[in-house]
Amino acid sequence: MLLEVRNIHVAYGDAPAVWDATLDIEAGQIVAVVGPNGAGKSTLINAIAGILRPAKGEIRIDGTDIARIAGHRVCDHGIAIVPEGRRLFGHMSVLENLELGGHRPGARAAREEALAEVFELFPILGERRHQIAGSMSGGQQQMVAIGRALMARPRLLLMDEPSLGLSPAVVDDMFRIIRMINERGVAVLLVEQNINKALEVAHHAYVIEQGNIVTSGQPGALLNNPRIREAYLGI
Ligand code: ATP
Repeated sequence: MLLEVRNIHVAYGDAPAVWDATLDIEAGQIVAVVGPNGAGKSTLINAIAGILRPAKGEIRIDGTDIARIAGHRVCDHGIAIVPEGRRLFGHMSVLENLELGGHRPGARAAREEALAEVFELFPILGERRHQIAGSMSGGQQQMVAIGRALMARPRLLLMDEPSLGLSPAVVDDMFRIIRMINERGVAVLLVEQNINKALEVAHHAYVIEQGNIVTSGQPGALLNNPRIREAYLGI
């Protein structure tokens, strides 16, 4: 198992946001965490990324517990995040934003190679490498955010609502990109409100409600679950 999250609790001060969450990601899988607004999806993914520290529980990558290591060391274990809302440096160029992602010691040596891979995946970023990131379209900015995470050459890419605020055609592109990244051997944890799209690409999915993982399974089974259909698909 690549990632094993075991019974984690994450709180903001006294307010619990994720409660007793357990999930697994196998190497090379796309795993989706779906659920409504405020369910705890960002909290969960930020805890895995080392941005938030769980009060209890374990987060193991290849068997090593990283739940309590310094946040900036999590990327050394092959985990990178594309945060909600992209968080680019809008006044800096595409290239400068991408170079900020190449922090891992191993990644630094291979920075040129990683950059070439990102430009192969997103040719538009190569063409526009000197453009100011904030002047690009929403979809292109999302590509910069994904490219920046890939510069660290992760084994596990965490993506928080990659389709948020994008037009339907660009959302389709984004999910195609997620598949392409996964086909290159990178496992993906995808947090999404767009349950239909997320379940289309995922190999396995978890449903989170009010801080609890309430069910999980194969996407096909979840799509046939009457409660899921009623609550999320309006069927
Ligand atoms: P969204 O899609 O809106 O981002 P989400 O499923 O990602 O929703 P979280 O952002 O993880 O949900 O929020 C889970 C709970 O934690 C919510 O009740 C939210 O109000 C609360 N919360 C989130 N961030 C903070 C914070 N910085 N301080 C206090 N409470 C927070």
